[in-house]
Amino acid sequence: MYSRRYLARLMRYWILTALLWLGSGQNSWAQRLAYTIEAAPQLPNALRVTLTYTTADTTATIFRYANDNWGETGLGACLAEVQANVPIQRKTVGDLVVLTVQHRPRQRVQLSYFVRPDRTDTLSYERTYRPIIEQGYFHLYGYGLFVQPARYWTTAEAQQRVRVRWHLPSGWKLLTSLAPQTARQVVVNGPASMLESSVFVGGDLQVRKLPVGGEPVWFATRPFQSLALDSAARHLQLAVRAQRAFWRDASQGSLAVTLLPTYERRPIDPNRRHLSVSGTALLNSFSAFATDADGLGPEIAERVDYLFFHELMHHWIGKQIRLRKEEQQYWFSEGFTEYFQTQLRLRMQVLNPAQYVQELNQDFVSALSRSPVRNVPNDSITYHHFWTNRDYEKLPYRRGFLFALYLDTQLKQTTSYSLADCLRVMLARSYTTNKKGFTDPELLTLIKEVTGVDPTPAYQRYIQQGQSIDFSSVALPPGLRVQSTTDNIPLFELAPAQREEFYQFMVR
Ligand SMILES: [Zn+2]
Repeated sequence: MYSRRYLARLMRYWILTALLWLGSGQNSWAQRLAYTIEAAPQLPNALRVTLTYTTADTTATIFRYANDNWGETGLGACLAEVQANVPIQRKTVGDLVVLTVQHRPRQRVQLSYFVRPDRTDTLSYERTYRPIIEQGYFHLYGYGLFVQPARYWTTAEAQQRVRVRWHLPSGWKLLTSLAPQTARQVVVNGPASMLESSVFVGGDLQVRKLPVGGEPVWFATRPFQSLALDSAARHLQLAVRAQRAFWRDASQGSLAVTLLPTYERRPIDPNRRHLSVSGTALLNSFSAFATDADGLGPEIAERVDYLFFHELMHHWIGKQIRLRKEEQQYWFSEGFTEYFQTQLRLRMQVLNPAQYVQELNQDFVSALSRSPVRNVPNDSITYHHFWTNRDYEKLPYRRGFLFALYLDTQLKQTTSYSLADCLRVMLARSYTTNKKGFTDPELLTLIKEVTGVDPTPAYQRYIQQGQSIDFSSVALPPGLRVQSTTDNIPLFELAPAQREEFYQFMVR
């Protein structure tokens, strides 16, 4: 028998537990900021969004929607029929649509609006950064979907919770950046950039779940005429597996990848096809578009492979291992990304050794040798030059790749380390001492620390001063020789008998 006092205590405990349970229930569902997004057959070409927000202890709150973003302008034209349960005013201020509402302190305000694309012509690459809502499916980046309270996040790093709920016609699929990535209702916690740099696709889609060891990759596509999606999915799976194995980084969550077709707008001139394959790396996700055009299947497939390997590599080089100075360090962030994504395609046998050498010759050695800016110093790769001049734009990719090849070969020939070992140490430091990023001297010091070889003199010559690397006078991977052609452009040749040795050396 329990004493009455004990029972009373037990009861109190139960009541307390029940209250706590109710409390935690409220915490998880009654978020201060919540969105409900609805797609319905009676609303073709539009999504209806309802937002609820509990205001601060003030009487006015500003909400905003991107008007200009990622090179797009006038996105406010896609934000329609904004209504609220309180007085509301709309203005466009600089690159934002600003909505000001009047309310009582701590009032729960409700806004509703439609996102309706301002362009509905043929879906060409040029309009993929604007909201896309076509018959049967949609693709939106967060900045085109969410009206956000301006002060909810007090700093760029501040974390806040948001609930997002979807009402979609039955049979529709959904894939988003916000984990769990196929869920119709999520509560996520993150910085202000979380919603803006997310992607949302839904509708009549094929969504594959690709096992990659650890958290899966979700791959959402629409039908293509010219591209074999099973093969694209297999290569995506290989790319993620290869990268996770390369970095030995088990901290990766699930990943959402979208690949949608775009179409050529101009009348098709067989001599001037307008082929575009492009991608954007986002929060736990990656959004890609490729032109679907008859007769270009193999070329599109090749470029989609490249895109997957290159962009996924940026998840580590650029996003996790951050650099301090954009263009000045593209030799590393773009050049080393190129070098290692090519190495991984070789490792996974997406490229064979002969194809690797062919790419090396064509895309790097020959392209750099023919470039009018091949020997300009690194500090002339400015924002202006990079974004306005195609030769400057390509320079850090080519120069950085060849420098990585040179350095990796020297390290492998003279030490027991490789450049990949150095990158893994950079990754480890990016979580501890270099959270804010690396300068060039920090990258070079780290390579010396790991391998004992100081790469600074070579870096000064080949990166900073922009001198060409004379591959005929340096150590090369086994089986590789350099020939000089009549136009004085070096050409690498691989001895067929040493293909296997070359492969083992390169992927070491
Ligand atoms: Zn890149």
